[in-house]
Amino acid sequence: MSFKDLQLNRPLLRAIAESGYNEPTLVQEKTIPFVLEGRDVITSAQTGTGKTAAFALPILQLFFDNQDAPKRGKKIKALIISPTRELAIQIEDNFKKYSKYTNLRSTVIFGGASIEPQIEVLKKGVDILIATPGRLLDLHKQDIVNLDFVETLVLDEADLMLDMGFIDDVKKIERLCPDEKQVLLFSATMPFKVEQLANTILKNPERIEVSPTSSAAKSVSQLLFYVPKPKKIELCLHLLRNTIKGNMLIFRRTKYGVEKLEQTLLKNGYKVESFHGDKTQSDRQAALNQFKNGEANILIATDVAARGIDIDDLDAVINFDIPNIPETYVHRIGRTGRAGKSGMSYSFCSADEKTYIKSIQQLIQKEIAIEEEHPYLLDPKAKPEVHKKQGGSKHKKGRKSEASKKKKKRWY
Ligand code: AMP
Repeated sequence: MSFKDLQLNRPLLRAIAESGYNEPTLVQEKTIPFVLEGRDVITSAQTGTGKTAAFALPILQLFFDNQDAPKRGKKIKALIISPTRELAIQIEDNFKKYSKYTNLRSTVIFGGASIEPQIEVLKKGVDILIATPGRLLDLHKQDIVNLDFVETLVLDEADLMLDMGFIDDVKKIERLCPDEKQVLLFSATMPFKVEQLANTILKNPERIEVSPTSSAAKSVSQLLFYVPKPKKIELCLHLLRNTIKGNMLIFRRTKYGVEKLEQTLLKNGYKVESFHGDKTQSDRQAALNQFKNGEANILIATDVAARGIDIDDLDAVINFDIPNIPETYVHRIGRTGRAGKSGMSYSFCSADEKTYIKSIQQLIQKEIAIEEEHPYLLDPKAKPEVHKKQGGSKHKKGRKSEASKKKKKRWY
């Protein structure tokens, strides 16, 4: 199938050709016709499948014919909600690229950055607004954003949005838009809470699923290292010295883990950047830029922070911690071995993570090859390490101190 077959107009086809795309990806082929028909759509597809263009292109096509000529009279007709700032910026880049030969204007608003320049652009009038939930509600409250004319609402990375605690904001935003509108929901995974949200705000949606999340990329060679937990850092250094070369993404479960590993690798002279939910917007952008332009070849991230970030050309993915959700493993390793290239994944499994490996192997329906040629082998009989608290707590289990309740920091 070609883009022409998808009934896209010439200005869009020209921009698509300039982007170097020869044919639509599967998610585009399946999603675009329904969006053009005005249907509500639920698409489960992860980043890297071309899902942004799957909603951006038909939205531009739909609004191309009824665009408001004068800039100042423009009303927001399409609203795209994204959970993270980086993803919002990426979506805006896509819209700008594809709308190059149209009069449709788009802009992006997100927290953690100065509000005035965003207000300036909004006042000039836009057709398409890409926003993170908090900043959108803030600007709506200030009467800078008017959502009364929204015809298409897109919820991107819905599962991540809910993981990050945006459910109430999303529901509120949906209610601020007119009742009669098209809703498109994109999500890498479809957990129950996403289904619940979809049931409340979508009308008779068309469901599209692209590449079931159990199909681990065939072009990725996967290796499994059994290693005692305290020796993971040594194993990582050993592999970096001897085996793993090129651009790599190292996943850790928590931001504390990310920071600890980053410090160790920096001390050992590696060019490292890191990415987690507590970093400021400019720090995250700087880390990403350093990695993308080659000044650092190692990026350490949490799953939540790394989701949705379009990083191509990875030579390797290291699962420093094994994810407890099997689909997460598939998403992680899917970041290497793209576009016909071969990729490598290295997973470090300690005694307490063996059950996770079991569920991962069930999901991908194959045994991951075990690498035994390394100096930090785990004793096969080793029991999971139990961290015992010194002295015990005088409080009952589960009770939190006032200080810790106040210090409600992000873990991702
Ligand atoms: P996404 O899943 O939207 O993050 O897109 C992943 C990458 O695929 C982006 O770098 C896009 O520019 C690229 N892309 C999107 N559509 C196509 C296409 N039809 N052909 C080739 N590349 C594409």
